[in-house]
Amino acid sequence: MMSASVEPKSLLSDPTIKAALAAIERNEPETLNEQARITEIPAPPFAETVRGLELKRLFEKLGLKDVRIDKVGNVIGVRPGALAKPSVVVAAHLDTVFPEGTDVRVKRDGKMLRGPGIGDDGRGLAAMLSVIRALDEGGVKTTGTITFVADVGEEGLGDLRGVKALFNDTLKGNIDSFISIEPGSPGRIINAGVGSYRYRVTFKGPGGHSYGAFGMANPIHALGRAIAKIGDIKVPAAPKTTFNVGRINGGTSVNSIAFESWFEVDMRSETMVALDAVKEQFNAAVADAVKVENARWNNRGAVTVDIDLVGLRPAGLTPEDSAIVKTAGASVVAIGGIPSYGAGSTDSNVPMQLGIPAVTLGGGGVASGAHSLTEAFDSTDSHLGPQAVLLTVVALVR
Ligand SMILES: [Zn+2]
Repeated sequence: MMSASVEPKSLLSDPTIKAALAAIERNEPETLNEQARITEIPAPPFAETVRGLELKRLFEKLGLKDVRIDKVGNVIGVRPGALAKPSVVVAAHLDTVFPEGTDVRVKRDGKMLRGPGIGDDGRGLAAMLSVIRALDEGGVKTTGTITFVADVGEEGLGDLRGVKALFNDTLKGNIDSFISIEPGSPGRIINAGVGSYRYRVTFKGPGGHSYGAFGMANPIHALGRAIAKIGDIKVPAAPKTTFNVGRINGGTSVNSIAFESWFEVDMRSETMVALDAVKEQFNAAVADAVKVENARWNNRGAVTVDIDLVGLRPAGLTPEDSAIVKTAGASVVAIGGIPSYGAGSTDSNVPMQLGIPAVTLGGGGVASGAHSLTEAFDSTDSHLGPQAVLLTVVALVR
């Protein structure tokens, strides 16, 4: 069990905490420089190594102990307390959604920083570094131990592989609670994990000339039938449950019956039950589409289908009356903010499903345009993000 955490507000009278919070505010210009600098190190999916090495260097420079990179590429550094327990992990993700070759230079315009990845999760990484620096400058002592992690594979087909490895291998059994930092206002507390299934669906047939071979089943027509059926799936409004065919591809020329087509679909829900229900309907839609297309042509050149799972994010919940959510909320209040609770799809999904207390907190400022080339970060009062994170973490390990 987690040891009792302290009330964040009571921490405000501790001179070391006061000094740490003041350090965050004083250092914020430097934190923003660091945020821009880190964002300009490309970190496409499955290619986070260069940015990871920079985080390793910074962890070492900031005095963390036992700094290392695990098997999958997570960068880990420890700030020991008097005891090993309770053990809290604070994480931000290294990867972006942007492919190799994207122009990731950051443009500054007063309080605005613009560039792909500047918020997601350049802000999370910078906020985490700010917390580490402030704990050190304030001379904050803790009972429990804080482990900082810059993790890989949070986005898209990365499929949370960094945090999955952290909980199932690297730090297995040694994490009492988990905080991840993502773009968002300092009051934003994600305590529900939206789960998702992602599939690539591939249709195949012999293919042939559009005129000469006419009369055979067509993988692209089968794909069209499947997507039309998926488009008609009914989902509940609560728990919010969604589906989206995000990519389609196939065929070689306008005058050929394609020999292959594929699409990628993403389905999400706040509960596993609703998620499994939409998945059932998706499976039925695909099976039916193939059957109808093949029957249309009396099974001449029959189409086959492969359904490959390319992503699985578990759904989970950290209850609002749990110690970690209450502590995070009280920390936001202590810095003068208003907490808001909600659902997201982040690194915290993994511990949530394992029943380990987890929240995802906003790194401060106002982030917009995540996952787009016009991503921007408004740094007005952005120091409040790391301040709320610091109070939450310290309260949990005091
Ligand atoms: Zn993110």
